[in-house]
Amino acid sequence: MEKKVLIVDDQFGIRVLLQEVLSQEGYTVSQAPNGQKALELVKADKPDLILLDMKIPGMDGLEILRNIRKMEVDTKVIMMTAYGELDLIQEAMEMGALAHFTKPFDIDELRQAVRAQLQ
Ligand SMILES: [Mg+2]
Repeated sequence: MEKKVLIVDDQFGIRVLLQEVLSQEGYTVSQAPNGQKALELVKADKPDLILLDMKIPGMDGLEILRNIRKMEVDTKVIMMTAYGELDLIQEAMEMGALAHFTKPFDIDELRQAVRAQLQ
């Protein structure tokens, strides 16, 4: 079965880019612009991996991650952060995030990290 990836980012351009790249990799990709939609999709689709933006208006990436961890889902998480968010990254790692990419990230490195986590 195809692996499922959920992209959570408030920036439309990032979602479109990642959707295109990861669809080409053969994954089933869904996307959410905010925390509420993200949690709905986690519950409904049980994605194998989530690419989670840290800075999102409203419910931020950490809060979304905290909510995901309360759910009965076994989902891998990779954070997407801005430069200088070390404290937040540390907190995300403590909640089981596997890796983080600082924007602007190298799309090939991200693609390979996703592939490594899903094989
Ligand atoms: Mg953002």
